[in-house]
Amino acid sequence: MLHTAASLSRLGTESAFEVLARAQKLAATGKDIVNLGIGQPDFRTPEHIVEAAVKALRDGHHGYTPANGIPALRQAVAADTRRRHGVEIDPDCVVIVPGGKVTMFFAIMMFGEAGAEIMYPNPGFPIYESVIRYSGATPVPIPLEEKTGFAFSAEAVLAKITPATRLIVINSPSNPTGGVVPKSELDILVAGLQRHPHVAILSDEIYGQMLYEGRTHTTMLSYPEIRDRLIVLDGWSKTYAMTGWRMGFGIWPKSLVDAATRLAINSHSCVNAAAQYAGLAALTGPQGAVAEMVAAFDARRRVIVSELNQIPGFRCVDPAGAFYAFPNIEGTGLTARAAQDRFLNEAGVATIAGTSFGAFGEGYLRFSYANSTENIREAIRRIRACL
Ligand code: PLP
Repeated sequence: MLHTAASLSRLGTESAFEVLARAQKLAATGKDIVNLGIGQPDFRTPEHIVEAAVKALRDGHHGYTPANGIPALRQAVAADTRRRHGVEIDPDCVVIVPGGKVTMFFAIMMFGEAGAEIMYPNPGFPIYESVIRYSGATPVPIPLEEKTGFAFSAEAVLAKITPATRLIVINSPSNPTGGVVPKSELDILVAGLQRHPHVAILSDEIYGQMLYEGRTHTTMLSYPEIRDRLIVLDGWSKTYAMTGWRMGFGIWPKSLVDAATRLAINSHSCVNAAAQYAGLAALTGPQGAVAEMVAAFDARRRVIVSELNQIPGFRCVDPAGAFYAFPNIEGTGLTARAAQDRFLNEAGVATIAGTSFGAFGEGYLRFSYANSTENIREAIRRIRACL
């Protein structure tokens, strides 16, 4: 009998990958599956980005890079932050990592241990709760409710802070709900945090460029009063359709950037060199492809919301950002998990049970609309027939 660490039993998972595996298994038996489960753009990475990686390989960028990323790329992240938000950041506070997830893992492991409390959105990206538990800290959910478009109440968050609270994770626009927290709520949160100087913030802004109907993204970097305790998570996966490249970055407060770099040295050493050159081309090259993808997601968003609202027993609020719809399905009489399994097995449609994103996701299903309009319509047609 192997004697593994007790912490291992506390590690959760991301069900999207399990559903993907089940969908692929069904597809291998000849079943036709429409996959609205996994959250990744269905577009190819723009060609000039791919070319930059090929060129980097041909130019001989085959070795290790600095652990925190190549300097030109960290400078490009700073320039991009200035361009998008008008905010100055020090390129030395940027740590390039293999995917957005890694900043999350580092930040939670830096603050989490037995006796500590970490707050996180629920329903939310499942890895937050998983890593909080793994670290030994107590996860304290921030419930997100349909009636507010799945935006949190800043007062409710502030009311849950205790002397043991070390970190608050926020995510806007959000996975799985598509909810966006209005600036007015962020203002209240930041003002209230002045009374709690011991609390750090991890702001997951990976969907920050995917907003609809004229909305603009408020980065937490725009609040100078919390910059010394703010970690921003962002990356290339969603914005540039680069999920498989494994490219992300964290913007760290000066006091934590050495620890983040040290965690990189202890785990992955550095990110794949050619991928970093691709990331550089993404930030410094034309941005037209990003706008085109967002416009396509917006068109699909309108289709899926309208179609979902016509399924008996379904009710879907307008997602303000990201590429997920999160309908309430209580009217079908099915639990989230039963609906997920039934739609996959009987209708050949992959979706994700809301409970995969935390206990507060019961009664909901996540649909990723990073798929063609035809596939979206077909999926809804099949679900209606199945019900
Ligand atoms: N944060 C959120 C909210 C996400 O939805 C995802 C991916 O689905 C990530 C982070 C991780 O992104 P990456 O694939 O770059 O690790």
